[in-house]
Amino acid sequence: MASIAVCPGSFDPVTLGHLDIITRGAKVFDKVIVAVLNNRSKQPLFTVEERVELLKEVTKELPNVEIDSFNGLLIDYVKEKDASAIIKGLRAVSDFEYEMQMASINRKLDEDVETFFMMTNNKYSYLSSSIVKEIAKYNAPVGDLVPQIVETALKGKYTELK
Ligand code: ADP
Repeated sequence: MASIAVCPGSFDPVTLGHLDIITRGAKVFDKVIVAVLNNRSKQPLFTVEERVELLKEVTKELPNVEIDSFNGLLIDYVKEKDASAIIKGLRAVSDFEYEMQMASINRKLDEDVETFFMMTNNKYSYLSSSIVKEIAKYNAPVGDLVPQIVETALKGKYTELK
């Protein structure tokens, strides 16, 4: 049976830190489904469709990576996709407490689904979508933090919002 993992997140927008986790995950699992959470309680910069498009573009060289979006409970989505694993990235101790809680609740909801944590690549340990947005908002370069196409999309977004 093929091993399928879901890599969930907001990806608002995708950064080089995300891409690193996705690429490494795709070496371990037969298929990785990157799932953009459609979270109505958060006010995102990019729409779900825009985030999906950017992810598709930056992962187009990875044949076993699929991009999708989902609503509702992650564990229901994982089961719907016949996946057996969830991949999460860990940047710092501060990520740990929340992720531990999520992994525990997901195990309680379905003990057949395993959560795998991947340690961030050291060069991206400080990197988050929020940091990138904060920098891009003030027109400073983010070329070392996100793929080129995302930098362009950020510029477009902030020009549009001005
Ligand atoms: P954020 O908005 O904080 O960047 P997301 O919800 O989009 O986070 O994150 C999706 C997943 O990617 C999470 O598991 C998160 O821990 C992981 N992740 C985000 N940035 C990095 C990074 N720089 N290194 C490793 N993992 C990361």
